[in-house]
Amino acid sequence: MRIDEYLNVGHTTPVSFEFFPPKNDEGWTQLYRTIDRLRLMHPAYVSVTYGAGGSTRQKTVELTGRIQNEIGLRTMAHLTCVGHTRDEIAAVADQLWEQGIHNVLALRGDPPHGQTVFTPIEDGFSYAADLVAFLRERHDFCIAVAGYPEGHIQCLNRTRDLEHLKQKVDAGANFVITQLFFDNADFYRFRDEARAMGIDVPIVAGIMPIVSCAGIKRMVTLSGARIPHPLLLALEEIETDSDAVRRVGIEHALRQCQDLIANGADGIHFYTLNQSRATTEICHALGKAGQ
Ligand code: FAD
Repeated sequence: MRIDEYLNVGHTTPVSFEFFPPKNDEGWTQLYRTIDRLRLMHPAYVSVTYGAGGSTRQKTVELTGRIQNEIGLRTMAHLTCVGHTRDEIAAVADQLWEQGIHNVLALRGDPPHGQTVFTPIEDGFSYAADLVAFLRERHDFCIAVAGYPEGHIQCLNRTRDLEHLKQKVDAGANFVITQLFFDNADFYRFRDEARAMGIDVPIVAGIMPIVSCAGIKRMVTLSGARIPHPLLLALEEIETDSDAVRRVGIEHALRQCQDLIANGADGIHFYTLNQSRATTEICHALGKAGQ
C-alpha cells in the first residue's frame, strides 16, 4: 500500500517510526520489543534505514519484508547510492518490489567512512535525484526523499539545496521527510520556501527526542541540526542527571509535535534509534495510542 495515500488526509496527523537493522542478537531482540510496543501507537508506516556505505543491503531488504509481511505494518525501505552500480540498485529495487515493499526512501547517502566528498563509483549515481528517476522507471514505487530544514550539511546555501530538492520531486518523488530539527521555525521557513518554489508534495517533519546529552551531541555533528540556545543551556545544567535530561528532551519533542500538528504538518516521522520509551510517551501524550 502506498504511503502517500495516508499523508495529508483526514483530521489526524500520521506518525511513522524509523528503525535500523541491528548488528547482534541482543539488538534484534530489542528491536522486536520496540516494534511490539510502537505498533500500539498506530503508525501510518515504519521505515528501515540502509547502513552507511550500503553495509546493510540484505538486512534492510529482509527486515522490511519481515516487518510488513509477518508483523503487518506498512514498511518503507531506505536505499542509498553509495558503492552501488545501476545493476546492483536494480537488483535491490526488484527484490523489494517482489516482496511487496512498494515504498522507498531514495537517498544519495553520505561519503564512505574516511572520505569527505561523495564520489560516485563507475556506473553509479551521483545524486538522489538520479536514483529517484531510475526507480520511477523501474517500478511504480511510492518514493520519498530527504529534505533539510537547515540546509544539507554540504550545501552551498539553503536556496540551492531547495533547488536540488525540487529536482528530486520533479524526477518523481511523492513526498519529503525532513532531517531532524529542534526549532520548528526552521521547519516552517523550509516548508514556506519549498511551497513558494513549487514543491507541492507532502512534507513530513523528522523528530528525534533527546534522551542523552552525549547522543544528541553526536547526532548534531552528523546531521548539522542546531540546538536552540535555551534548550542547550537547560540540558547543560542537568547534564549529569540522565533522568532529567530525558525529561527535558521528551518535553521539548512533545511541544514540537503539538505545535507541528497545530500548524498542519503532513506527518511526523520519529527517529527512534530502535528505542520505544521516548516515542511511546510522546505518542501517548498526543493521543495516538487510542486512535
Ligand atoms: P542529495 O539530495 O543527492 O543531496 C546531497 C547534496 O548534494 C546536497 O548538499 C545537495 O544540495 C547537493 N546536490 C544535489 N543535487 C545536486 C546537483 N545536481 N549538483 C550539485 N549538488 C547537488 N543515510 C544513509 O546512509 N542511510 C539511510 O538510511 C539514511 N536515511 C535518511 C533518512 C532521512 C529522512 C534523512 C533526512 C537522511 C537520511 N540519510 C541516510 C542521510 C543522507 O544519506 C545524507 O544526508 C546524504 O548526505 C544526502 O543524501 P540526500 O539523499 O539528501 O542527497
